[in-house]
Amino acid sequence: MMTPDDSSQKRDASMAAGIDSDHDTLPDLLAVDRRSRVEFGATRRRFLKASATLTAGLVGVPWLGRLAGAEMAAGTIIDTHTHFYDPTRPQGVPWPDKGDRLLYRKVLPPDYRALPQPRKVTGTVVVEASSWVEDNQWVLDLAANDPFIVGMVGNLTPGSDAFSGQLRRFAGNPLFRGIRIGGDRLGAAVGEASFRKDLGRLADAGLELDVNGSPESLPGVARLAAEVPDLRIVINHVANVRIDGRAAPADWLRGMNAASQKPHVYCKVSGLVEGSGRADGKAPADVEFYRPILDGIWNAFGADRLIYGSNWPVSERFAPCGVVQGIVSGYFQTRGPAAVEKVFWRNASAAYRWVTRAR
Ligand SMILES: [Zn+2]
Repeated sequence: MMTPDDSSQKRDASMAAGIDSDHDTLPDLLAVDRRSRVEFGATRRRFLKASATLTAGLVGVPWLGRLAGAEMAAGTIIDTHTHFYDPTRPQGVPWPDKGDRLLYRKVLPPDYRALPQPRKVTGTVVVEASSWVEDNQWVLDLAANDPFIVGMVGNLTPGSDAFSGQLRRFAGNPLFRGIRIGGDRLGAAVGEASFRKDLGRLADAGLELDVNGSPESLPGVARLAAEVPDLRIVINHVANVRIDGRAAPADWLRGMNAASQKPHVYCKVSGLVEGSGRADGKAPADVEFYRPILDGIWNAFGADRLIYGSNWPVSERFAPCGVVQGIVSGYFQTRGPAAVEKVFWRNASAAYRWVTRAR
């Protein structure tokens, strides 16, 4: 059900278009849990369980410290949606395609850090776009040597025979924060017991689920949120809605409103320039062009459940990364400084529980 690429590429095509070094992690984990319990309205039991899982995962990993805490400096930005890969490695890559002149190149954290951006990005959560199971390990290995990576969202297939074993394996690394699936079959998949059971395992491990689908996938998100109430779900790329500067599509608005009814569903503020369909790198930089869509998610999710992601390098096809950050920053500044801080890292801490790393 998960495709190796991002649906932004599919849409593009279809349009022809430190971790702190101390080992004393428990107090901080519990501090985060207490805050999270308020934010999610979740039970104490569940958070104690998640905390225990995470603490267990930390044993034997001396370079890992505490979760993102209240001590993060003002101006922190966590980009929760990047892709890193290396087509020059011996086994190659299943994505991007060799014929993709923009994306088929080595793309690593130093390349991202070199990008001009309005505000310096503090860290990133990598989203795995490769369909090869071992590429989850490849990103974790990359992350082990680069503290800029504060978490990863892996690529596993819930409902498959191998899922529970693979989850156990990767969840042992505290940087593994969840998985992503495609949303197109979600509505049907939620009806399958094996699928629901695996997502329950994900929730029990304290991990989240990213869902990348079209506006039609949103009823499935709402259904899943009701069926697996302990699972934090992050809708990717504002559900890949087409953005044309005019009023938001009614079906998309309905879907977003329905999905947002459950407090553990979040929406990633990403995929905006991609939504313009302008694959010549000239998507509008003007916030006004995106305002109907941004107002739609603001009204549905509010200040506490919107999360910034750049979707770089995919977004580069539509606009430079600095423009992507500038649009989101420009919109949320009009919602006040607290909203900016929440969208750029606090909400990501609640949804992903990314880790603070020593530099
Ligand atoms: Zn992406």
